Amino acid sequence: MLFQNTYAKLPEAFFEKTSPSPVISPTLIALNEPLAQELNLDPHHLRSPEGLAILAGNKVPPGAQPISTAYSGHQFANFNPMLGDGRAILLGEINGFDLQLKGSGPTPFSRRGDGRSALGPVLREYLVSEAMHQLGIPTTRALAAVSSGELVYREHPEPGGVFTRVASSHLRIGTAQYFAARRDLTNLQILVDYAIQRHYPDAKTPLDLLTSVIQSQAQLIAQWMGVGFIHGVMNTDNMSLSGETIDYGPCAFMDQYNPAQKYSYIDQGGRYAYHNQPTIAQWNLARLAETLLPIIHPDLDQAHQLAITELQKFPDLFEHHRLQIFANKIGLPQLSDWNIIQILLDLMTEDQIDFTLTFHHLTQNADQFLRLFKDPRKANDWLELRKSLGAIDTNTMRHHNSAYIPRNHLIEEAIQSSYQDDHTKFNALHKLLQTPYQTDQNHPPENHLPLPDQIIKNTFCGT
Ligand code: AMP
Ligand code: MG
Repeated sequence: MLFQNTYAKLPEAFFEKTSPSPVISPTLIALNEPLAQELNLDPHHLRSPEGLAILAGNKVPPGAQPISTAYSGHQFANFNPMLGDGRAILLGEINGFDLQLKGSGPTPFSRRGDGRSALGPVLREYLVSEAMHQLGIPTTRALAAVSSGELVYREHPEPGGVFTRVASSHLRIGTAQYFAARRDLTNLQILVDYAIQRHYPDAKTPLDLLTSVIQSQAQLIAQWMGVGFIHGVMNTDNMSLSGETIDYGPCAFMDQYNPAQKYSYIDQGGRYAYHNQPTIAQWNLARLAETLLPIIHPDLDQAHQLAITELQKFPDLFEHHRLQIFANKIGLPQLSDWNIIQILLDLMTEDQIDFTLTFHHLTQNADQFLRLFKDPRKANDWLELRKSLGAIDTNTMRHHNSAYIPRNHLIEEAIQSSYQDDHTKFNALHKLLQTPYQTDQNHPPENHLPLPDQIIKNTFCGT
């Protein structure tokens, strides 16, 4: 493994040197061979006893300089100056991508946590992040899931797991906040230069970085909205500078369309509900802007003005992307007005119709689409309205309306089977989500909806 370790070469304030703690008897549950190959890693080696030892945190691979990174963050709007990787260890970068072990034991940032992860959240992140990637949404990736052979103690004892995450970096808004909170402008500037070099090589100044993050997050959140994804814990430490989806905790894809949908048990107030995601993203970006002010311009008033001008572009950028995404979903890629989309979404809300299935049937079969609604006449009127607006581009629709999403109840079923050492459900679900836009005749998408007693109302961080 050829490690670059650029993060470990940053000033010491950025991280703590930390070795992973070994586990008793690791077993490889999943290995992402295509991703391994993209990284020039040999899947055969990763499956060998030495490879497994590396993926379990039992052996530090030659050339790696393991560290846990420092960051702060606003958690549900409350600032915590000291978070950091409490249960994750960065081995280093390979081909420019971070290789990180999650659940690999305590770090100097663990506070009262054990630095471990239950196997459930490991399998969940594996399924959901890989599904996101195949749906075409920027995300961290899953290289491997390992069961540790040890128990972790949460509400109940649960089997433990170690997850290997690949990311274009693990820089977060919270990383910038860490230095701003300490008035450490030297390291803040070093962080900005590093982020620019890794993610936005055309950017030159801290203001350029802010602009770039605003642009990539506006696109990302619009993409989430287009697949019904609810991140669930959009704290500033869980929002990447690169624009990748990161930190899959209590996240979920919604089944029935409900703009106010939330699943996370700890999000009682619905701060991170589906329809709040763009507002929260902008709030988080404002926190990023604040941290950068002193290095945006020596005159604070001017810095403020410059930053606000950029932040105010977010709503239009987001609306622009969301309109394009939903226009593609209804087959009118040239659409310039949100109105017809809102009419459909209102009908779906009224009848509590499955989000993914609505657009799937709309793409594949108008009769099945109409039958979803209590009053098919209203849906038919909508089809007529759509027809009046232009020719329907079904090819575009097919690339924007997936047949499958990682549904909560299916993930939960897969995890429960894996807890009994039966990984067939996990593997089958993962396989289906590898090609989410292709309908598999053996798995009609309508059979994937939860029955009333299968609906999952709450998801948990599981940490
Ligand atoms: P997250 O829920 O992943 O956003 O985590 C929030 C913070 O809690 C981060 O600083 C994590 O590193 C830390 N954390 C979460 N779970 C654990 C754990 N089991 N042990 C130690 N720290 C943890
Ligand atoms: Mg986090």
